[in-house]
Amino acid sequence: MVPISREGRKTMKYVVVLGDGMADYPIEELKGGTPLSAANTPMLDELAKMSEIGLVHTIPEGMAPGSDTANLSVIGYDPKQYYTGRSPLEALSIGVDMKDTDVALRCNIVTVTEEESSYEDRTILDHSSGEISTEDAAILLEAVRKELETDICKFYVGTSYRHLLIWDRGEVVELTPPHDVLGQRIGEHLPKDDMLREMMRKSYDILNEHPINVERAKKGLNKANSIWFWGAGTRPALSSFKEKYGKKGVMISAVDLLKGIAVGADMTNITVEGANGGLNTNYEGKAMAAVKALTEDGYDFAYIHVEAPDEMGHQGSLSKKIQSIENLDQKVIKIVKENLDKSAEPYRMLVLPDHPTPIAIRTHCSDPVPYLLYDSTKKVESELHYNEADAKESGNYIAQGHDMMDYLFGNK
Ligand SMILES: [Zn+2]
Repeated sequence: MVPISREGRKTMKYVVVLGDGMADYPIEELKGGTPLSAANTPMLDELAKMSEIGLVHTIPEGMAPGSDTANLSVIGYDPKQYYTGRSPLEALSIGVDMKDTDVALRCNIVTVTEEESSYEDRTILDHSSGEISTEDAAILLEAVRKELETDICKFYVGTSYRHLLIWDRGEVVELTPPHDVLGQRIGEHLPKDDMLREMMRKSYDILNEHPINVERAKKGLNKANSIWFWGAGTRPALSSFKEKYGKKGVMISAVDLLKGIAVGADMTNITVEGANGGLNTNYEGKAMAAVKALTEDGYDFAYIHVEAPDEMGHQGSLSKKIQSIENLDQKVIKIVKENLDKSAEPYRMLVLPDHPTPIAIRTHCSDPVPYLLYDSTKKVESELHYNEADAKESGNYIAQGHDMMDYLFGNK
């Protein structure tokens, strides 16, 4: 039964489909095109003809381009006001109740080279240890925890290669994201803080010959042979999304960061079986979870976050990034549109990335990203396609990403 507002009108539903890192720079191999313009996306092409296309600047001036600042921005929280580091948001999703004096640090398990005799001379090969499974990573982290945990430093298991350290009475020290220095000697990028640096060094001795890594090496998989700290911060204080926008919201993501933002914003996290943040995630399951939340469970707003394009950008794989965008088009956007059309609910759908993860640099940048805004109650006619160049040509520009929610809700 479609909820009817007091004035007898059906209440508008809102859905965001965010392809993490899917924007890119023009690529020679694509004759100046991008993965978005080259991908075969019949649903987005159809939507583009009847939607508003434009550019939005999600990363505030002077802040580092990351999924943390960018998604906070897209969900309507000005990072300049609300951002206190990446890892505290993940701590929220792991259910760690941080004290005011706590500092949370992301603890990746990464792959470094083995030939060198000194730890500083090693090179970082992979920030994700080949996207190791959470099961294997948990065993390795347990080995590290046994040796290195103290009364002021506690380790917490997250997802795949993404884990957490809570440092009581710690410092919010400057640290280097591992995906920013892939292929480089690690010496220059280690923490200046002695305690953190020694923990990383010792982790190599604990992990490199661990049975799980011996097994991985036999299978030709990257060893998960060092921990890497980054993204330090203190407890975040997000206001409730419902109070801020008057909308009951759900979050559908496999990534702890997004789940943490949802916990902080008092939105409901929906866990979808098989959603893993990778290229072969359960796209359809995420789409249907959003449709059910909006059409059956009384939610007004659904945020569907798909990590795959970002991971493929970090891997530097053009074909896989294009594949992830084609999957997003056919296995998420198409399913959401067709089912919301069938439900006869009026709705507005926003499609956008949080930031670009260009194949050429294999990491994030702060360039504005293209958005597509479709309103099932009003049709605009447009010749444009959904890609970076056409979005620029449209002349539509939202300078502050945290205004995007008001724009979606029609408050601006
Ligand atoms: Zn991202």
